[in-house]
Amino acid sequence: MTMGTPSDVLPCPICHRAGLVSETLDHFWSAMCSDDNCIVIGRYFSDRDAALRIWNSRGPASVAALAGQLLSDSMNAAVAA
Ligand SMILES: [Zn+2]
Repeated sequence: MTMGTPSDVLPCPICHRAGLVSETLDHFWSAMCSDDNCIVIGRYFSDRDAALRIWNSRGPASVAALAGQLLSDSMNAAVAA
C-alpha cells in the first residue's frame, strides 16, 4: 500500500473499508474508498485538508446524494478519457 491510510481518514461509510486521501500527479487531492469499486468523492481539492474534511464530514444521510454525484462524475471522467 503506497498511498497510505492515515488514521485521521475515516472509514468508508458504505463498506467500512479504509478511506484514502491521495494526491494526483497534478498536486490535487481527492478522497476515496480503498475499494476501487466502491465510492469516490468525485472532486479534487487543492489541499489535503480540504479533501479530508469532505470525506470525513459526509454522513450516511449524504451517501445517496454522493452516489448521484459519483455517477455523473464517472460519466464525465469517461468522456474526458
Ligand atoms: Zn467503500
